[in-house]
Amino acid sequence: MVRPAPTVVFTPPPTPNGALHVGHVGGPYLRADLYVRLVRLLEDREIRHVSHVDTYQSYVAKKAVEVGAEPDALSREYTGRIRADFDAYALSHDAFGDNRDPEYLRFLREGVQALTDVVTVVEREVPRCEGCGRTQLEAYARSACTGCLHDAYLNVCENCSLPQQVDDALGLLCTQCRTAAGGTTTARFLSFDAGAVAAVEDTMRHRHGASRRASALFDRLGPHLALWQFESPYGIAVDDSGLVLNPWVEIFFHHTWCLLQECGVDTRLPFSEAVAELNRRDPDVIYFFGVDNTYYYAFLFTALAQALVIRPMVPSRVKINHFMHLRGAKISSSRGNVVWADELVGTAPVEVLRTRLARSCPEYAPRELADDGPPLSPAPPVGVPPAGEGPRELDVVRARLADLAAIDAFSVERLVDVLDKGRERARAVGGGDADAIDDYLAHVCRELQLA
Ligand SMILES: [Zn+2]
Ligand SMILES: [Zn+2]
Repeated sequence: MVRPAPTVVFTPPPTPNGALHVGHVGGPYLRADLYVRLVRLLEDREIRHVSHVDTYQSYVAKKAVEVGAEPDALSREYTGRIRADFDAYALSHDAFGDNRDPEYLRFLREGVQALTDVVTVVEREVPRCEGCGRTQLEAYARSACTGCLHDAYLNVCENCSLPQQVDDALGLLCTQCRTAAGGTTTARFLSFDAGAVAAVEDTMRHRHGASRRASALFDRLGPHLALWQFESPYGIAVDDSGLVLNPWVEIFFHHTWCLLQECGVDTRLPFSEAVAELNRRDPDVIYFFGVDNTYYYAFLFTALAQALVIRPMVPSRVKINHFMHLRGAKISSSRGNVVWADELVGTAPVEVLRTRLARSCPEYAPRELADDGPPLSPAPPVGVPPAGEGPRELDVVRARLADLAAIDAFSVERLVDVLDKGRERARAVGGGDADAIDDYLAHVCRELQLA
């Protein structure tokens, strides 16, 4: 029997060049985890949280040079630490993909081949640093963003989300040698014309929740080149060109691979047959991510899904969060303005840590890490009144939570507000009604792993 198609929530695979900090945990990961737990608590439908680790990013190679390590060993070490961070914060994944799996790599090669049949690939001369030999793309080079002048790696600007075009980069410098490139090499790009960009904008216009960042990106994004393959000593090669694939294209294919598995599609099928089968299952895909990934999740993935006609990989909704701040500034490990996720572990029960980060979740604008908050007395586990029983206040709580289980309305801020207002009201009414409200809220908190 064919299983009913699930809702699959994807979060960005962390890059294994460092552990998680509180901004990562309190951003897309906790937000997605709370949404999945809330839907499971309230609704009888299948929902799954899926991710993996971003194994092939050039940032892994950059970090390896900085610390004198071997990239693959570094990647495996940090993969272990990232997964320990997820576990420590009860951030559960229903599936965690393995993008080193040989069966997946076969699927990736076939997908890449299929894509080159439907998207125009162009070759360009790009700068190459004569000092270190690195192609001046991705983590290997920085310049001032041509859209906003923010300091940006040669992929996308994390301040305005515009992709950086290598042809007119401003003040390009090698991140390793800190000098301007002297040589050139060849790289390949996917060419998105005005029609392709407009098609994605049209599709995504009502799917990003009026995100100002996504709106501004689409307002300014015209025809452009997206990196396809480049010369690098680290990354994933998918053909005999000697070039490695843009790691974000690999992420798209790995999400697709995970989606096949979630839908019970036989992953041994050839690429085109597996995609046809996935289209028949028609699962619902939702992406939670930070603003710095807006170009990839809101534009590129949809563009690739449309080009390859992988309909479910066009998300029904994207939930974009801003950055968490510490001491009024963006979290930055290089400037020492950071709280690592594992620094807080053990200082309080996990549900207290999750609640603190939920109160700090930068859903709509940058937001400061909240203080610890008042000590909480854990509510005793008592019976939960069935729906329709108990005081009227309980109906209000249930109705507000039910609203939040719809992805458009879901917000961590509102979720925390339901719990706060319910508790306040319980104190005001007192007696048996208060017990009924408190018991229900305790039940919700247990399921959501909040205090
Ligand atoms: Zn260099
Ligand atoms: Zn910018």
